[in-house]
Amino acid sequence: MAKILVSACLAGEKCKYSGGHNLVPPIAELVRRGKAVPVCPEALGGLTIPRPPAEIRGGDGYDVLAGRARVLDKEGQDVTAAFLRGAAATLAKAREIAAELVVLKEKSPSCGSKLIYDGTFSGTARPGTGVTAALLQQHGFKVISEGEFAFKDSKFGSEDIAP
Ligand code: SF4
Repeated sequence: MAKILVSACLAGEKCKYSGGHNLVPPIAELVRRGKAVPVCPEALGGLTIPRPPAEIRGGDGYDVLAGRARVLDKEGQDVTAAFLRGAAATLAKAREIAAELVVLKEKSPSCGSKLIYDGTFSGTARPGTGVTAALLQQHGFKVISEGEFAFKDSKFGSEDIAP
């Protein structure tokens, strides 16, 4: 059975930096039915819940992977190593389940696939890719955001998750 990998916070897990979640009910339903597997890269990387928010400084996730940019939390601590550990663990999970699709939370410094915050902690988003999303894309996985996950047109569509 085809499997998708999803950001755990989209499935309702309280793994956000704030201790909250970003529940998207149809994604939680896919997890409940065993069709999607939830992962939180930052928790897998060893960061606590809650934790200070973090943003990429000096580039995006591709730059972090190449050693050209760092991930700093709002208190100024360098958390790059934890982000890289989490990305590697998430890649291992995607390979384990042979994920056909990965749906990740937009704007996250780990999970964002098209947008991330700009490193100033001012709530300003800019085009870019998070560390985990970049690593997954580098290894050939198809990564989309929760907003792009069109249930009615996908093979994981609304008919697939209907009761
Ligand atoms: Fe959600 Fe990804 Fe942030 Fe974890 S790292 S809380 S899964 S956006």
